[in-house]
Amino acid sequence: MSTTETAIASAEAHSAHNYHPLPVVVASAEGAWVTDVEGRRYLDMLAAYSALNFGHGNRRLIEAAKAQLERVTLTSRAFHHDRFAEFCTELAELCGMEMVLPMNTGAEAVETAVKTARKWGYRVKGVPDGMAKIIVASDNFHGRTTTIISFSTDHEARADFGPYTPGFEIVPYGDLTALRAAMTENTVAVLMEPIQGEAGVLVPPPGYLPGVRELTRERNVLFIADEIQSGLGRTGKTFACEHEGVVPDMYLLGKALGGGIVPVSAVVSSAAVLGVYRPGEHGSTFGGNPLACAVALEVIAMLRTGEYQQRAAELGDHLHRELGLLTGGGSVEAVRGRGLWAGVDIAPALGTGREISERLMRRRVLVKDTHGSTIRIAPPLVISKEDLDWGLDQLRAELGA
Ligand SMILES: *Cc1c(COP(=O)(O)O)cnc(C)c1O
Repeated sequence: MSTTETAIASAEAHSAHNYHPLPVVVASAEGAWVTDVEGRRYLDMLAAYSALNFGHGNRRLIEAAKAQLERVTLTSRAFHHDRFAEFCTELAELCGMEMVLPMNTGAEAVETAVKTARKWGYRVKGVPDGMAKIIVASDNFHGRTTTIISFSTDHEARADFGPYTPGFEIVPYGDLTALRAAMTENTVAVLMEPIQGEAGVLVPPPGYLPGVRELTRERNVLFIADEIQSGLGRTGKTFACEHEGVVPDMYLLGKALGGGIVPVSAVVSSAAVLGVYRPGEHGSTFGGNPLACAVALEVIAMLRTGEYQQRAAELGDHLHRELGLLTGGGSVEAVRGRGLWAGVDIAPALGTGREISERLMRRRVLVKDTHGSTIRIAPPLVISKEDLDWGLDQLRAELGA
């Protein structure tokens, strides 16, 4: 057996099979490229679902992490530490908000948002105890906890994991009439992805997000934008909501906030909303730790320059122009997305998304399927135009286009 086959067989024997990774075993990485255990190089066109927006081994981020590793890495929130205030201030400012509640994973940020919205509903809006409702969209992806999968519409994500958490209402994504009809006086929040990533990079119809904003404001309901995948530069702006001129009540951030080094997530909102918490009501041992803050502060500083957003916008225009040329040729049925982020529906006759991903892997390009014959393309924002073009050449060759 090859080194690759041995590593995969061993992983399959000793790890739960909750993932079905492509048969590549990465040993090192730099920028947009990864190298496997047998020395083969691959172009990473997935970037860990946007957690690697700034690329593998980004020097600025590695240096920031190293410096902090030598000073202090963890205090717990039982004490203050000297990177915390700076992190919260800078992140709030980047978001145009007032307060930050740091957690670790994206799912924890979503859980925190659910708790915050409910508490806000009872304490501020005056919803009767235990009656708070949160409206979400069909085909959403917000994470994997029992509460979050309770409002998933994906059978695989949900089946066998009940009993489910009540208090959620699901409406079709993109349908304002349905959203309006679902609202009651007990609705405390609308939780949505401004672009649905896992669903296949679905961009809602123009006017939908502004409509959600107007409706939520009218009804005194919090608009929670899950920008865990769409935020922090991916779409060509700091937040995907900006494309529609929308400012939500709460941003949920994660993935790229940790620079591909440590898990860092956050709920960012106003003092009126996050101000509902008192000591002891919520927390996390690792949330807002010094190492996480140091890395995230560097991420925020990098986003402040605007250069990554601009790269994503420019390279994204190029990507969508090139992918657009493939539609109509028979091999690609549809392309969606914004910035350096695309969902590509391949003609089913050419294979499933998984099969296409495996064939692209053999051409040394790493992508990931979503559902059916859809693949998703989301390279690190630091990818060069030449590398992006090479990746597109491989896709074109694979599709016989
Ligand atoms: C990835 C993701 C999450 C969950 O983040 P984890 O860090 O995997 O828990 C939540 N929401 C969206 C939109 C995501 O893409």
